[in-house]
Amino acid sequence: MEKDFDFGIIGSGPAGYTAALSAASAGKKIILFEKDLIGGVCLNSGCIPTKTMLHSAEIYEYLNNSLDFGICVDHCKIDFSKIAERKRIVVEKLRNGLERSFKNAGITTINAKAKILDKNTIEADGKIYSCGQIIAAVGSSPRIIKGMEYDHKLILSSDDVLNFEKLPESIVIIGSGAIGIEFSRILSAFNVDVTIVEIAPNLLPSADIEISKRVERIFKSKEIKFYTNTSVEKIKKLTNRVQIKLSNNEILESDCTLLAVGRVANEVEKVEGVTYIGDVSGSIQLAHFASKQALEKVVQIPFNQTLVPSVVYGNPEIAWIGKREQDLESDTYQKAMIPISALAKSQCDGALDGMIKILARNNKIIGAHIVSKEASSLIQQLVIAMQTNATVDELKAVCYAHPTYSEGIFECLMRLK
Ligand SMILES: Cc1cc2nc3c(=O)[nH]c(=O)nc-3n(C[C@H](O)[C@H](O)[C@H](O)COP(=O)(O)OP(=O)(O)OC[C@H]3O[C@@H](n4cnc5c(N)ncnc54)[C@H](O)[C@@H]3O)c2cc1C
Repeated sequence: MEKDFDFGIIGSGPAGYTAALSAASAGKKIILFEKDLIGGVCLNSGCIPTKTMLHSAEIYEYLNNSLDFGICVDHCKIDFSKIAERKRIVVEKLRNGLERSFKNAGITTINAKAKILDKNTIEADGKIYSCGQIIAAVGSSPRIIKGMEYDHKLILSSDDVLNFEKLPESIVIIGSGAIGIEFSRILSAFNVDVTIVEIAPNLLPSADIEISKRVERIFKSKEIKFYTNTSVEKIKKLTNRVQIKLSNNEILESDCTLLAVGRVANEVEKVEGVTYIGDVSGSIQLAHFASKQALEKVVQIPFNQTLVPSVVYGNPEIAWIGKREQDLESDTYQKAMIPISALAKSQCDGALDGMIKILARNNKIIGAHIVSKEASSLIQQLVIAMQTNATVDELKAVCYAHPTYSEGIFECLMRLK
């Protein structure tokens, strides 16, 4: 029987919108269901609003240090309502752009919760839609911890922090993954008293150990307090504050607490023959991973799932790809490292915090770890090198522009023995 649509796509985050737009440009007839705002978590309450706020935080930090660069700024103060307004405008502009792209591509969008009835049938708003293929890209939500449920006033999720109308004076951030680290950087730059509690032995536990240690040094220099090897036993809510009991018996008190303890896949009907992509697929929870999965499933552009770069934003940025040193057996690899301060460009910019570390085996790069201004862009060179199997010798032969942070990669490659 002929179907109403070639693809029925549920969810309009990076996984869903990439699937919809790529299938439409391949001439397919698409229907897309979204129960909330177009763009999903990434656009509305994830990647984009955080980076917009982070940029304001960075400007504030720069202005506070502007005398170092010969610029005298008399009065530098935060207008948080303007920061929130700018974030809203950026998100709305991008959302409008996405909606226009759907319209131009002839994609039918339904603003309703969709239910999968079988591998070819979706129900939404009491109507039935038949589809050649169904793609479920329904995303994830903040993890809920029993006894520490979000009340959205004192115990907060990342969504709540992004909706702040005014800044708290103090916050305890539980968890130091990418989300915890980024919020601690944003809020501390805005003079909020930030304390991080991390159960693992180091901050940013998914990173290479030397990167984690570097981050800890940077946080100390920025007076961001943190506890490692420490868990939260109890959160007690007072009238306008929280008391947090730690495993070392200390009690922290703050205006609120952010639980940045990971995200769980959203619930959706599990039906054989339906394709599940993005955060709901239960693997890497990153926007670029979600959109690559979409391209692989819909227009068969394969990608190497072992080469997905990780980036943590802020000043300086943190980025990595491939193997971490703590996972390698000694004497099975070569290692080279340079401090970012060795680069002429970092001296020009006064951006001296950071390092580049490259791990190699048999003349091939197996891992790269960067803390630096522009690390989010720098890492891409190494992803391409690894994906194309470039040898260290071939990369040494590349001409790197001067003065740039990229020269750090070259310097590092030259030190690989
Ligand atoms: C604070 C924060 C910062 C982040 N920063 C980054 C970053 O810098 N870089 C990065 O790569 N990743 C980042 N992420 C992660 C990134 O946002 C996710 O990996 C990405 O959004 C996943 O995309 P997705 O399409 O799978 O799902 P989502 O973006 O979660 O979209 C799923 C959509 O499905 C809709 N939906 C769910 N169920 C139904 C239903 N039954 N019917 C209709 N619609 C439904 C939801 O409303 C939602 O809009 C961040 C996340 C957070 C929370």
